[in-house]
Amino acid sequence: MTRPIRAVIDSSALLRNIERLREKAGARFFWAVVKADAYGHGLIGLLPVFDKAVDGLALLDPSEGVQARKAGWRKPILLIEGVFSEADIQTASEYDFETLIHQERQIEWLERAQLKKPLRVHVKCNTGMNRLGFRPDRIQGVLERLQAIPNVVVADILAHFANAELTYPQDRPVTVEKQLAALQALRAYGNMCLSNTGAILWHPEALDHAVRAGIAMYGVSPDGNITSEALGVEPVMNFESEIMALQDLEVGEAVGYGSKFIAQRPTRLAIVACGYADGYPRKSGKDRKVFVEGRFAPVVGNVSMDMLTIDVTDVPQAGLGSRVVFWGRELSVNEAAASFDTIGYELLCAVAKRVPRVLK
Ligand SMILES: *Cc1c(COP(=O)(O)O)cnc(C)c1O
Repeated sequence: MTRPIRAVIDSSALLRNIERLREKAGARFFWAVVKADAYGHGLIGLLPVFDKAVDGLALLDPSEGVQARKAGWRKPILLIEGVFSEADIQTASEYDFETLIHQERQIEWLERAQLKKPLRVHVKCNTGMNRLGFRPDRIQGVLERLQAIPNVVVADILAHFANAELTYPQDRPVTVEKQLAALQALRAYGNMCLSNTGAILWHPEALDHAVRAGIAMYGVSPDGNITSEALGVEPVMNFESEIMALQDLEVGEAVGYGSKFIAQRPTRLAIVACGYADGYPRKSGKDRKVFVEGRFAPVVGNVSMDMLTIDVTDVPQAGLGSRVVFWGRELSVNEAAASFDTIGYELLCAVAKRVPRVLK
């Protein structure tokens, strides 16, 4: 008997979500962003779905790209932060990756690389995010330098929005409008790759040629104030486990490390096979809850490494083997994340390696 914890991955929902986003993206080249093992969903198992539905994979670590190639992925792969070392240029060339160029050092590596076949590069422009990239006034010089390197092919100019979400306040120093204005003069140099999920959904004025879709493919809204139903996407990951034990507490009795929960009434607790080593946050949160037997039950006490406790006093059907959902269809990951003052992205990516991904 294995532990009952699992992340059930609904691959047909993934396919429908991508189709929905492609309606918004129109004819633009569609990069599926699959960094962090497809936002925690497990990249390799999902390759057949991506192969059916997207134009290329955008990922972070060259080794993830190598794995995808070895698993049979033939379409384009883009390294969204470029190479991290000079040696990786040869890896990129060997495995036919496209790569981002965001700093001088990467250009020097290319100049020394003596590429034997064409390598497509994307030039990152820093339009106000201020993490990676060249400022707009440097782009022309960078393009000239790249174009002078044998076998380097400049594919487009790439930039990233800091605030593409619909309900983010528009009085921030960096808005989509300002970021687009910074790019305007560069449009003469060629194609643009700008949009993340938020921009695909809410900023058609980006007028780019390629998009990079992430979170909404996985059925999660990039904007915590807008539900996935409103976007017409469905959660792909259902993170769940089962009740493995029950305890009836009398008033004044406590549960777990630190005795954080003390029963104020005769209380039925259920012990669930999931802990912080599985990716459920240990951090205490407000309104932490799970879905069990058709109802929500609060998570109480400190989460342990391998177990957590829920109060099922008001869920009479809860018993040994009852399915417990941490997030997924019945409880959105954004809602779960809000209890911990974080975003759905973080919870998805934090689901531990030891949790089996079960494709359905
Ligand atoms: C993660 C990432 C994306 C995708 O963002 P979503 O909000 O998940 O759509 C796009 N572009 C870059 C450069 C990224 O790092």
